[in-house]
Amino acid sequence: MSLTEQLLVRPGTRVDLRAIDARSSPGISEKDARQGLAPLVEEIARLQYRLWAEQRHAVLLVLEGTDTSGKDGTIRHVLSGVNPQGVLVTSFKVPTPIELRHDFLWRIHARTPGRGRIAVFNRSHYQDVFVVRVESLAPEAVWRARYRQINDFERLLTESGVALIKCFLHISREEQHERLSARLDDPEKQWKFSMGDLATRAKWDAYRAAFEDALSECSTEHAPWHVIPADRKWFRNYAVASLVLETLRSLDPHPPAADFDVTEARRALDTLR
Ligand code: AMP
Ligand code: MG
Repeated sequence: MSLTEQLLVRPGTRVDLRAIDARSSPGISEKDARQGLAPLVEEIARLQYRLWAEQRHAVLLVLEGTDTSGKDGTIRHVLSGVNPQGVLVTSFKVPTPIELRHDFLWRIHARTPGRGRIAVFNRSHYQDVFVVRVESLAPEAVWRARYRQINDFERLLTESGVALIKCFLHISREEQHERLSARLDDPEKQWKFSMGDLATRAKWDAYRAAFEDALSECSTEHAPWHVIPADRKWFRNYAVASLVLETLRSLDPHPPAADFDVTEARRALDTLR
């Protein structure tokens, strides 16, 4: 089984996050993952160039996971090689009053990638079945209907040429303690800490249940979830980069052939020397 197959949530199965070791690094050693990342990042950049040239498909990388799970770090490491012009990163925050007047997918749809682009969601529409559910920001009938609504929306996207890569960054409770503690220790990182993170941490089990339901209900053939053991950053980066690369390879983008006579263009150019 390939690395990415091992991380896949098979559609129709139940996810049990407690059964997945967040410290594990299936199928790869630390040395190989660290050395292997740069070539993956380079090939992602090469294929992004072609994706842009072809203007046929788009890629949407959805990153979810609790506070300190490494969503920002993953973006930095995995997409460090790509041309910024071809990438659109959105961090979804608490919805604004205007956003709240619309359906929950309104602000999401607006940030999906057009043909030729890679978009990244740092948090996503899944917040509407995570925090909204756990904090009772909407009635149960409202958030329950969202699993189906999300599956329908993601089907629309995939049928419209958007390849989805959904990664859940899975960290252990102990690792989160370490990372929050490190944020408090370092004046350069304190700004990242929020008291709200502690309120969320206090509801660890309720969030885990919400994560498990969404990962189980919304891992579909067209848009499957992957659970990435993320206590070890080197594994997390390597695994997400592998998924992105695998998706780009499967799209197999090619720059379009010239729609003019190249010999004639060369001759015309030379007359303008
Ligand atoms: P951060 O990712 O640390 O910048 O925090 C963003 C905050 O926005 C988190 O506390 C999220 O739970 C919150 N958030 C994002 N999307 C939603 C949503 N749809 N409803 C409520 N809160 C949200
Ligand atoms: Mg935060």
